Formats: sequence, structure tokens, C-alpha cells
Amino acid sequence: MKPFPENNPLQRLISLLSRLPGLGPRSARRVALNLMKRPEATLRPLAEALIETADRMKNCSTCGNLDTQDPSIVCADEKRDRGMICVIEDVGDLWAMERSGIYKGLYHVLGGTLSALDGIGPDQLRIHQLTQRIAHMQKTPTPVREIILALNATLEGQTTAHYVAEQVASPHISITRLAHGLPVGGELDYLDDGTLTAAFTARQKAG
Ligand SMILES: [Zn+2]
Repeated sequence: MKPFPENNPLQRLISLLSRLPGLGPRSARRVALNLMKRPEATLRPLAEALIETADRMKNCSTCGNLDTQDPSIVCADEKRDRGMICVIEDVGDLWAMERSGIYKGLYHVLGGTLSALDGIGPDQLRIHQLTQRIAHMQKTPTPVREIILALNATLEGQTTAHYVAEQVASPHISITRLAHGLPVGGELDYLDDGTLTAAFTARQKAG
């Protein structure tokens, strides 16, 4: 039996926390009770950060990155190489690439991978936005010359990379993918910076 009715605020907090990835009901109770130990030092700042994040963070309409501004800081940065677009699954992968410091081009976040099992087809990902973006950029003074498929070394990631490569194929664009230094099943976000940098530097033509 639960110690509180469902409409009790602490019970509601526990219920919400328990839905987060990696947290079950037991961890959620522990987190909530921990936050209640010093509410002014931890609970209230957390609540304020949640509200501010919900209010101010949005997906960049160009690349899909999360930022307080649209276009995102990365897209708006004139010093970045506009001839390169690195295609990644999630914002976390973009952060991993940025942490490595190896790459100074633009990004495109797909928002996941193709998965017949989960009913995720091309229309659920930002693939159409990518082809449109490239078509638009080819008419500018800084056309795209390389697309780097930096998708995770999972079956879904590689299936998606293959599909995206077909969609963006053009005689004027070199399509590359990260080298096979990536461990099988490897997700960018879990790689140390050295491994990611090596896989990027040794990237090879896709297909
Ligand atoms: Zn952007």
C-alpha cells in the first residue's frame, strides 16, 4: 500500500520520477526522499530548472539540436564549415561529437533510427528535412560537399545510415561514415573522446 493518496504532491512526484528511464518505483522513492531532505537547496532549484528548461529549450528548426535559440548556436556560427553535415541519431550524439572537439561542421539530428519493430519509418525521422536542407544549401555559395553518417554501430543505426545514404546521393557530395573502430553496438554517447576522434579521422566512403 502506498503511504499517500495519488493526489498527494510527493506521491505525484514519485510517480513521475518512476517513469523516467533507469528509475523504477524504488529509485523514484529514494530520489524524492533525498530531495526532501534539503528542499531549498535541491528540490526548489530542480523545480525551477525543470520549468526554465520546459519554457526556454526548443529544437532548432534547421538541425534539430536543443538550444534556447532557433537557429541554434551551432547553425548560427559563421566560423563553422558549412560544407559538411554530420548526421546523428540524437542530440546526445551531437554533444558527444562536440565534446570530442574533432568536428567543426554542421549537424543534422534524425531523432532516432528506422525500426520496423517499433513502427518507425522514414516519415517519423527528420530525413525529408535533411534532403530539403541539402537541396537548399546547394544553391548557396557554400554548398554541401560532405555528409558524414555518424550513426550508432547498431543494426538499426546501420540500416538507417544505408537508407539516408541513398536519399542524399549526389555526384557533388561525398558520403562518408565513421570508421569501423566503433565497437559493434557502440553508441556515440558512450564512447570515450579518443575512440570517437579516431573513428571520425579514419572515416571512409559509405557504400
Ligand atoms: Zn541548428
